[in-house]
Amino acid sequence: MEHVQVLIIGGGMAGLSAAIWCQRLGLSAVVLEGTDAIGGQIGQIRNRIWDFPPGVYQDGEALLTELKKNESLCVNGLVRMNEQAVSIDTAKRLVHTTARVYRPNYLVIATGIRPNQLAALNNAPNVLGPWFSTTSNAKSLANQNILVIGSGDRAVESAINLSSYAQNVWVSVRSNRLRARDEWQKQLHERDNVTILWETEIAEVTAAPTPVATLHSTVGKPDLTLDADWILPRIGVRGNSELLPGLPTYGEGFYVVNDVLQTEIDWIYAIGDVVNGPAYASLALASGQAMKAIKHMILTRKENSHDASLS
Ligand SMILES: Cc1cc2nc3c(=O)[nH]c(=O)nc-3n(C[C@H](O)[C@H](O)[C@H](O)COP(=O)(O)OP(=O)(O)OC[C@H]3O[C@@H](n4cnc5c(N)ncnc54)[C@H](O)[C@@H]3O)c2cc1C
Repeated sequence: MEHVQVLIIGGGMAGLSAAIWCQRLGLSAVVLEGTDAIGGQIGQIRNRIWDFPPGVYQDGEALLTELKKNESLCVNGLVRMNEQAVSIDTAKRLVHTTARVYRPNYLVIATGIRPNQLAALNNAPNVLGPWFSTTSNAKSLANQNILVIGSGDRAVESAINLSSYAQNVWVSVRSNRLRARDEWQKQLHERDNVTILWETEIAEVTAAPTPVATLHSTVGKPDLTLDADWILPRIGVRGNSELLPGLPTYGEGFYVVNDVLQTEIDWIYAIGDVVNGPAYASLALASGQAMKAIKHMILTRKENSHDASLS
């Protein structure tokens, strides 16, 4: 069993910022990253990042290159790759991972989000992956017929990007309204090659000779079939909050925390997208929350009996 002052689960912007703040405030920390790369969603950003001051970055890769230069992150053993947290025993204060068991004074959960899946698309052909970037790859689908599923910001933004090159873009929406912000809805309605299929949901996709998508009506109208070359599901994200199933969540698995990012259990904090949900997901907030959580540990350390080793 390994003892650490602060154990951080997740090596995205939130977790890495928390590690930097631990260094800054003199706390020993370990970051667990389940994959073989740090950065989390940053690695999927293909757009220009200009809302994370003071830098302007061409894309996520450029931001990651800068981030990796931060000397606080180059400390030996700070970030442990390919090590996934699998369970937390809150009574014994133990965190079990794929490699070992930790006993932390404090735990920071920064596990981010994952895209929702549609059962009807399991094993279906020509389904674009959840991180397919329509900002950088729309051109690769020139002259194709594409079915986008969803009604939020990402679905509508994707449909707009694709419509610049595609022959037809269909947008399947379960209800009779879009959830996307007004400016994007307006742009979508201006595109001649975009058709919104209101009150429909995907039922199945068959393969030959090109994929055929069958859409059920959600209001009892006849089914629709479409010869779609590609299908792009954009149906939102959910928080990676399974590690502590007993804690309160809101929306689709986003932890409820107090104003200093503490969960109901006072030695466990949660920060970043797993708390913020899609509406407030951002690099700046993830990074700022990391500061607040770690600083709160320091400011309250003398009041807590369990963390004598922090003093
Ligand atoms: C395409 C795209 C474009 C974006 N553009 C912008 C932008 O321009 N500006 C902006 O501010 N924001 C942007 N964002 C949002 C921003 O990237 C996120 O808000 C931010 O990166 C969230 O960081 P996070 O650390 O909370 O989560 P994540 O980046 O999701 O990181 C979570 C990490 O935890 C790891 N993990 C999960 N579970 C475990 C476990 N059990 N054990 C160990 N590790 C685990 C994951 O592998 C991952 O590395 C964009 C996001 C996307 C997808």
